[in-house]
Amino acid sequence: MFHNHYKQQTAACVAGIKGVQIRKAYKFRLYPNATQQQALAVEFGHARFVYNHFLAVRREHYTQTKAGLSYADTTGRLAILKHHPAHLWLQEADSQVLQQKLKDLDRAFKNFFEGRARYPRFRSRRHRQSIRYPQRVKVDLATGRSYLPKVGWVKTVFHRSLEGRIKNVTVSRTKSGRYYASFQVELEIPDPTYRGKAVGLDLGLRAFLACSDGQKIANPRYLVQAERRLRRLQRSLSRRQKGSRGWEGQRLKVARQHEKVADQRSDFQHKLSHRLVEEHRLIAVETLHIKGMVRNRRLARRISDAGWGQFLQMLAYKGDWYGCEVVAADRWYPSSKTCSVCGVEMETMPLQVRNWNCPSCGSHHDRDVNAAKNILKHTTAGTAERRNHRLRHADGVHVRPASYQMQAGTQKSEAKYSSSW
Ligand SMILES: [Zn+2]
Repeated sequence: MFHNHYKQQTAACVAGIKGVQIRKAYKFRLYPNATQQQALAVEFGHARFVYNHFLAVRREHYTQTKAGLSYADTTGRLAILKHHPAHLWLQEADSQVLQQKLKDLDRAFKNFFEGRARYPRFRSRRHRQSIRYPQRVKVDLATGRSYLPKVGWVKTVFHRSLEGRIKNVTVSRTKSGRYYASFQVELEIPDPTYRGKAVGLDLGLRAFLACSDGQKIANPRYLVQAERRLRRLQRSLSRRQKGSRGWEGQRLKVARQHEKVADQRSDFQHKLSHRLVEEHRLIAVETLHIKGMVRNRRLARRISDAGWGQFLQMLAYKGDWYGCEVVAADRWYPSSKTCSVCGVEMETMPLQVRNWNCPSCGSHHDRDVNAAKNILKHTTAGTAERRNHRLRHADGVHVRPASYQMQAGTQKSEAKYSSSW
């Protein structure tokens, strides 16, 4: 559906309507054969070696000189390393792939120094593997294949068509052994048009979110069921002896289910965020609310599982594309405890209270909808302030506001945006 809509937009561009350039990502499943898997393993392994090696080098350099190494410094050292007799094997890998890893490392350090992420960590071969090709990847949509340098033509399932100019391609292998290619493309869309009403959102645990207009959106049933199954599998894994054959098989099942849940959640969030930004000119969210709840350790896990940070990022970049201002309340506000009609503040509002009556004006409130109303009210109050707290992205890379850090830190996803919608 979105796809058709998108084609119309492209047509509008051709007709001469002024547009904006955006970057988006398309993710497709790859099915490499045994030989190609072997070739990919070389690329992943060598790239991981380069990342870890230069992480150690940069750390060591800093301890000794109190000065940092730049990306250019590391590329120079990599060129030397590749000609050292002990490291000639590095030349088996695609040289651009290795260079991109140095870029990733540089980005990881920048994110750390600018307060957006933790100190870079060593990468393990047991986790998700990924490499990026900055160019030379070709696609053949007709036969369903992608050409990856040093690997060859790999069977690819293009479940939707690929539009725009390909900027780079990230190839990954998940923990459960699936392969994906994520194509980052650049394309033009018309200038965003701001239309519809303003809405406040309260992100919750029971319902996924409540809107200030009274609408409530639940987590889809298939997702709830998949999560339940994941928890069952995890419990069963924890009962097995680590390293045993049964444990290994169970670990794979857990990894597969984990990926399934993540895919389903991101699918749901892409569709929902797309609809919300299309229907509204302004969306108000409350960030500190999340931060406060993440401090509660019992709730923290469920909140990071719900993937609110990822959802808010989707809202922010889609808002920029399609015309919706996404704003975050800047200071703590007792949105759940305050009557949105008369403004009276209750002393307490325990989490289990779902509905309540205001003792002052007699209004009957749904807890979450009332909170969403307050979030909207509070956010639209100060226009100048609001502009400062607008969530932006620049150069195709999301800049996370400081208030999202905790959320982002608990997530394994990269800081870069990715969308498969
Ligand atoms: Zn009241």
